Amino acid sequence: MTTKNIKLLEWYYNSGVTDVTSNTARSYLKEKNKPSCLSVQNDILSSAINSQSASARELAERCSSLSELKNTVQNFEGCALKNTAMNTVFSDGNENADIMLIGEAPGSNEDAKGIPFCGDSGQLLDKVLGTIDLTRENNLYISNVIFWRPPANRKPTDEELMICLPFVEKHIALISPKLLIIAGGVALYSLLGISTAISKYRQKILKYKNQYITTEIPVAVIYHPSYLLRQPLQKKLAWQDMIFIKNFLNSK
Ligand code: URA
Repeated sequence: MTTKNIKLLEWYYNSGVTDVTSNTARSYLKEKNKPSCLSVQNDILSSAINSQSASARELAERCSSLSELKNTVQNFEGCALKNTAMNTVFSDGNENADIMLIGEAPGSNEDAKGIPFCGDSGQLLDKVLGTIDLTRENNLYISNVIFWRPPANRKPTDEELMICLPFVEKHIALISPKLLIIAGGVALYSLLGISTAISKYRQKILKYKNQYITTEIPVAVIYHPSYLLRQPLQKKLAWQDMIFIKNFLNSK
């Protein structure tokens, strides 16, 4: 492969073109039986991703305040999702809150406004959390594991999650919540490496730690509000989860 071809592939990657054979996002890095002609491209993609992730790590490490981190994420050019997004969606809510909620990725409303969970799923989320008096104004801080809207609201790829992770880890460390609420399977996978059904983990207190945190943070896992919008019958489980969280908070 010539240097020119490598540059072209890098350009594709940086422009967000990582798949030319289907409309859905696909991770070449995870595929077992890759066509041999893809293996060189695969190596290039893999090294580009590793270098973006290392650069995110280096930048995240230097941030010692929330405003520095926000600024750094807004100026970061290493995640191709930024090229198709209108805004960086960093956070909302009370920075001094004891409770931090982390969701998946911005949708179209969030992208337009630069605010997490400000569309239909956000309204449902506010309603659900409001039942136990958790509000962004008072005692809740909200963010996502991805800071830019994936095109057509597709699921973020492992590579995108990996690139954003150093910032997310630093974000959690800087907020240092007494309870971390993980909303949905993608955030659960990104933060705790768990890819099995959420139903197994709700109503339990898990533990979270990363390299910037010295003491483990308790974690409660809840259904993502978009799932509840699609499956309204499951909303009753969400109320039960709120009671579980309330009881946990009361026990502290
Ligand atoms: N879904 C999310 O996971 N996060 C948002 O900010 C909006 C929708």
